[in-house]
Amino acid sequence: MQDCIFCKIINKEIPAEVVYEDDFVMAFKDLKPEAPAHLLLIPKKHIPTFFDLKEEDAEIMGRIQLAAGRIVRELGLADRGFRLVSNCGRDAEQLVMHIHYHLLAGRPLTWPPG
Ligand code: AMP
Ligand code: ZN
Repeated sequence: MQDCIFCKIINKEIPAEVVYEDDFVMAFKDLKPEAPAHLLLIPKKHIPTFFDLKEEDAEIMGRIQLAAGRIVRELGLADRGFRLVSNCGRDAEQLVMHIHYHLLAGRPLTWPPG
């Protein structure tokens, strides 16, 4: 998708601190971290929101969750835990229209998030 900032990161057109990548998923550091570890996990396929998901996307969405656990373990934070959240649509203030999960870890995370 031409004007999508996350697709540009996937295509290496703009830089990002990538911490994990496979054929389906990419994880990179959020520009404005809200926790000691704040990563964005995205499908390499451009999917704007959860409402655009198709049956065929089930595997790729599952792979994001597999990657989350793997990444947190590699960061040495598995014993502390983490939060995986996704903002969808206006009320959740989704700013980038390419599905992404925020992975937050490394500090106590209060609930509810606001
Ligand atoms: P949201 O769509 O509200 O879930 O948030 C989008 C997130 O993307 C924000 O936390 C931004 O800081 C982050 N972000 C936007 N552009 C970039 C970028 N080029 N590299 C890394 N993170 C970004
Ligand atoms: Zn995109």
